[in-house]
Amino acid sequence: MKFLDLAKVYIRSGGGGGGAVSFRREKFVEYGGPDGGDGGRGGDVIAEAVEGLNTLIDFRYQQHFFARNGQPGMGRQRTGADGKDILLRVPAGTEILEDDEETVIADLEQAGDRVVLARGGNGGFGNLHFKTSTNQAPRRANPGQPGVERTIWLRLKLIADVGLLGLPNAGKSTFLAATSNARPKIADYPFTTLHPNLGVVGVDNAEMVVADIPGLIEGAHEGRGIGDRFLGHVERCAVLLHLVDGTSEDVVADYETILAELDAYGGGLADKPRITALNKIDALDDAERAERQAVLEEASGGRVYPISGVSRDGLVPVLRALRSEVTAARRVERIEDESGAGAETWRP
Ligand code: GDP
Ligand code: MG
Repeated sequence: MKFLDLAKVYIRSGGGGGGAVSFRREKFVEYGGPDGGDGGRGGDVIAEAVEGLNTLIDFRYQQHFFARNGQPGMGRQRTGADGKDILLRVPAGTEILEDDEETVIADLEQAGDRVVLARGGNGGFGNLHFKTSTNQAPRRANPGQPGVERTIWLRLKLIADVGLLGLPNAGKSTFLAATSNARPKIADYPFTTLHPNLGVVGVDNAEMVVADIPGLIEGAHEGRGIGDRFLGHVERCAVLLHLVDGTSEDVVADYETILAELDAYGGGLADKPRITALNKIDALDDAERAERQAVLEEASGGRVYPISGVSRDGLVPVLRALRSEVTAARRVERIEDESGAGAETWRP
């Protein structure tokens, strides 16, 4: 699966309509003169950041955006109609890049930011425009300017709300597939994904972006494996969901391996809110499940959610718990944003 946060899009603005060559012809009017109207303008291609989107997934389904051409001018001084603009609605935080995937054309940071990516061609002048004292019957009109065609890239620095943690094979990809629109590759062998797979998970009418972070492997923080790229993605998560494979010989050892990794990463990662789940409970009998849940609760000093990505047992409670962490964390960020440096002095 590719990044959901990069999309290639083909755009074309509308061509201008041609100007008309026409002469006024009426009974009893001699030498009526030129009356060819101008062509209409072609439509622009515009990108605008809007609220309520958090991925570029729509651009996987539609990649071509062509604005309409302007209508040609007509006789009796009629101007052609302008072509309609076309609007690309993108999430706030989308960068727009040239074909080379490097040069930034625009950075639409806030909802409401907009940029014209391709201007429509001007309409051509009709022959009415070329009338002068010395040439009272011009037979000349301009064609419309052609539209602009270009390939652009949309790139969204996706901010995951929830990061999935767990050893390879803990069931992260399966969890993401069971809860989100993403269809990550599921392997039945220890498989370390190179790009975090991102999915949008809906719970109680709210959406969260969940990142299946490449399997944390021992030593990954030293640059083996995915290193910094991984870190960049988790650093901005509001909450981490730690999946522990319930079928493992020693769930506590697995749990602690990941905790040691988190500590080693630094960057405040270990201090993030974290929710722990005992995964694959469909493969456990009641006694095993109770015992493993108890030892994990003891090791983590908190609640452990028993879940299964395969049978979908226990998913809703864990999603709700994640969601309330995300909401709380984003609320704090908003308050800090609004009050700037004075965040510490904020009082209710
Ligand atoms: P990841 O490496 O953490 O992404 O793990 P995957 O989602 O790729 O799963 C690894 C293996 O565990 C696959 O064979 C899955 O079919 C299996 N698996 C994942 N979730 C569950 C579960 O809830 N129950 C059972 N029985 N198997 C699971
Ligand atoms: Mg995986």
